Amino acid sequence: MEKDCLFCKIANKEIPTDFLYEDDMLVVFRDINPQSPVHLLIVPKKHIRSINDLTEEDKIIVGEMAMLGKEMAKREGIDQSGYKLLFNVENGGGQMIFHLHQHLVGGWEGDAKW
Ligand code: 5GP
Ligand code: ZN
Repeated sequence: MEKDCLFCKIANKEIPTDFLYEDDMLVVFRDINPQSPVHLLIVPKKHIRSINDLTEEDKIIVGEMAMLGKEMAKREGIDQSGYKLLFNVENGGGQMIFHLHQHLVGGWEGDAKW
């Protein structure tokens, strides 16, 4: 838990947020400013700043994030139409919240719009 980290506060339920999924390692909730018809955030409970900060012991977390991305796409009904799983990394990569998260985006009519 990192002081003043928004996603730590969400993951620790200090800021009430509807979770679509929760286990010991990960939570999933809808992006507050969706960029696509389906836009979820898959977030580890552990505070990790970005992909740049992953260590060997975090391999399992990233593996679980990808697996859960696949599962949530299915639950949202976009697995067959298709989707993107994205990490923004640091300012130049468009990261604004410096607590690791994976975007699940999709649900467009036809081809991807983003
Ligand atoms: P980044 O640009 O860091 O990869 O993405 C951060 C994402 O978090 C953005 O898409 C933004 O809309 C979302 N976000 C920021 N604050 C909140 C919040 O308080 N609640 C939720 N659900 N999403 C947020
Ligand atoms: Zn954090």
